[in-house]
Amino acid sequence: MRNVAIVGAGLAGFSVARRLRELDYTGAITLFGDEGALPYDRPPLSKGSLKASVDASGATLRPSEFFEENQIALRPSEPVLGIDTTARTLQLRGEAFAFDALVLATGATPRALPNAIIRGLHGVHGLRTLADAQRISQAFGTAQHALIVGGGYIGLEVAAAAAERGLRVTLIEAGPRILGRVAGPPTADAIRAAHKRKGVDIREGVGLSALVGTDQVKGAILSDGAHVAADCVIVGIGIDPNVTLAKSAGLATENGILVDPTCQTSQPGIWAAGDCAAFPMADQITRLESVGNAIEMGEVVAANIMGQSRPYAPTAWFWSDQFDLKLQMVGLSPGYDRIVTRPGVNPDAISHWYYAGERLLSVDIINEPKTYIIAKRLIETGKSPPPAQIADQSVNLKVLLKS
Ligand code: FAD
Ligand code: NAP
Repeated sequence: MRNVAIVGAGLAGFSVARRLRELDYTGAITLFGDEGALPYDRPPLSKGSLKASVDASGATLRPSEFFEENQIALRPSEPVLGIDTTARTLQLRGEAFAFDALVLATGATPRALPNAIIRGLHGVHGLRTLADAQRISQAFGTAQHALIVGGGYIGLEVAAAAAERGLRVTLIEAGPRILGRVAGPPTADAIRAAHKRKGVDIREGVGLSALVGTDQVKGAILSDGAHVAADCVIVGIGIDPNVTLAKSAGLATENGILVDPTCQTSQPGIWAAGDCAAFPMADQITRLESVGNAIEMGEVVAANIMGQSRPYAPTAWFWSDQFDLKLQMVGLSPGYDRIVTRPGVNPDAISHWYYAGERLLSVDIINEPKTYIIAKRLIETGKSPPPAQIADQSVNLKVLLKS
């Protein structure tokens, strides 16, 4: 391969480019982006950034010199419009660009509320980009009541930031409980309690029927008929993978760009990584939406472009910061039939261990990074300590790693 093109200058695309150079790839690398910025990290956008004015440089993954020194041709304002898989070219605005290997790292788009609900009202925001975070942070400077729609990570992290900025906050979650997709019930209970202590009004099993206002949003009518004041609405109701480019080029897609265990799409020499890629994991087609996945999948793609034939077999891991809670999760809990609770060393620390029979599937940890490190190692090495030992605080977890 002499000429690798990467579509999407986010974390996954950056990870492919960086790892190719670390593996001593000497050909050309071109990284196409459409946000007009150096690749940046998204996690701060829903956490610390919203507590203050959002500094555009704060989340940048590497300075521009990194790209020059590593001869990575970054074209941050060059949306890729099409792929000709036969000619092996990308269609840009004014030219066709030839590639030997292509990586699709196109990310995802936040779901929006229906137009019938938004009705063109000002003050309704989604959150994916630096520009979105800047708009929201600015709105927090003048707003008094924030309505957060969606009780996933985006919604809860933004709710915490808004409360810390002094806004009155209502959060609605349409499902039966917050964090339904990404954490177990006892973890959701702890997060809910933390929000309640800080005055966030969380309403579960409640959707949004209408927004109220003439030009600027002023309030909302909820699905249970309640009215709430809201001069700022943040929407965090999930994302859809960006598959249009892949689909129109004839690549197989299904809730993401389908890839094989080596991250190659249905077209040889075309790969996918990050939020946009759906890959086989434990007999299921899975898409992970996380920093860990974007980095590690990008690295595997780079290795495989270099001919290594490495299968992608990740351990899922996530984290979230809300108020003074540090939540860390490792593994995936679907299929669990038992939850084992382990009290932490400090009163504000606790961990929940999810088992299917005797098999450990995942662990949610609050305020105990040392336990997270051990839990991650246990999951990575496929070890399942007996639940009774996990529940026994006198058992040193490090010992379980050796058994
Ligand atoms: P993206 O970061 O979306 O990058 C894809 C890029 O490709 C985008 O810039 C897009 O504009 C561009 N693109 C798309 N189509 C084209 C095209 N045709 N031509 C050119 N460019 C194109 N994960 C965690 O694990 N922990 C966290 O705490 C966490 N916090 C988060 C906070 C926020 C506010 C958000 C939005 C996400 C957070 N995530 C977190 C998720 C994590 O950021 C994503 O999983 C990760 O960014 C995915 O990287 P990606 O490169 O696959 O996609
Ligand atoms: P998410 O995890 O899918 O959560 C969205 C939540 O909104 C779901 O619980 C969903 O319930 C609910 N919902 C959907 N429609 C609704 C409606 N009309 N009214 C009220 N609730 C509704 O997605 P997200 O929180 O928007 O996050 C988007 C992306 O950013 C994800 O990839 C996420 O991983 C990433 N992110 C990660 C972190 C982190 O890891 N710390 C932080 C921020 C963002 P149902 O499931 O019942 O539909």
